[in-house]
Amino acid sequence: MNAINSYKCPCCGAPLVFSGEELHCDACDNSFPAEIIKQISDGETEATGESSYDWEHYEPRSYEDTSEINLAGYSCPSCGAQVTGDDTLGATVCPYCGQSTIVKGQFEGTLRPDYIIPFKVDKKAAIEAFEADFKNAPFLPDEFKNKKKIEEMAGVYVPFWMFDCDCEAAITYNAQRVTMWSDTNFNYTKTDYYKLFRMGKVGFANIPVDGSKKADDAYMEALEPYNYNDAVNFNGAYLSGYLADKYDVSADESIERANERVKNSTVSEFDDTTGMYVAVYPEHAKVAFSNGKVRYSLLPVWMLNIKYLDKYYKFAINGQTGKVVGEYPVDKGKKWKYFWKIAGIGYAVAAVIAYFMLH
Ligand SMILES: [Zn+2]
Ligand SMILES: [Zn+2]
Repeated sequence: MNAINSYKCPCCGAPLVFSGEELHCDACDNSFPAEIIKQISDGETEATGESSYDWEHYEPRSYEDTSEINLAGYSCPSCGAQVTGDDTLGATVCPYCGQSTIVKGQFEGTLRPDYIIPFKVDKKAAIEAFEADFKNAPFLPDEFKNKKKIEEMAGVYVPFWMFDCDCEAAITYNAQRVTMWSDTNFNYTKTDYYKLFRMGKVGFANIPVDGSKKADDAYMEALEPYNYNDAVNFNGAYLSGYLADKYDVSADESIERANERVKNSTVSEFDDTTGMYVAVYPEHAKVAFSNGKVRYSLLPVWMLNIKYLDKYYKFAINGQTGKVVGEYPVDKGKKWKYFWKIAGIGYAVAAVIAYFMLH
């Protein structure tokens, strides 16, 4: 018998030894065909390597030709937000904090985006989307239904980094299949243990990572999906009537977030192929990215901030689909009034019943 140190028992981890056509584990007394053990070992080698991420370097292009539109720099005296916009914009409430009107200043240059998804939902439609959304909010304070307040919403092109790549992944799982049956005397449970190995390639296009510190990441991700078929080559004329934020999180700084999103999506794609097993435990996962490309894009978002009891509530509306994101507070006064009314009706009914019983 020949000890093969590099092959370990898939059940208990002890070294396997050759015995005829098979590999035998002296520790747990299991035998395995040599070919199967080799497949498991190859799979593990494939899946335990170092993950690698290969992205091109993004070279920013400055916005020199502003002949398409006259741009102005705007800043918020309350929160310090710095945005660019059409220089004909009237008084506009700061889309990020809602506290003051942004002040027009000198245009100080910005970076030219590669792509833009133009606004498809205009202000009127965005207001309608918001009004349809808050109909479902119970005991909504009246501040949120104030038309004048709602009309303060501003259209902002939010900077996003868009990542494309091919992702090759290798993942190993431990999995089980359970069979149960019974005869007149006993119930039986049989558990089969499997080593699963999955390998393949997944292509990703347009994974967005927002490039603005002021824009809340959770809100921006909740606004997805955007349909990138509508993305067009950037032209300044699209900014007419809107604000445009410029990125303050660089492409390099956003790569980690993109890596995480690609890896998680790949793993979940692969997980979908293990449905015929129960108790599936991922063991090793390795991903390797190639052809990583980065582009700078602007995506349309309507932003609205409404103040209620000293707190600002943020709302964002996808400027392409009309999807509304945000949380509504409950007006405690309205809620109690409602409960007293219901309780009052109950009381009145009880009083009527008591009256009938007495007569
Ligand atoms: Zn063993
Ligand atoms: Zn502000």
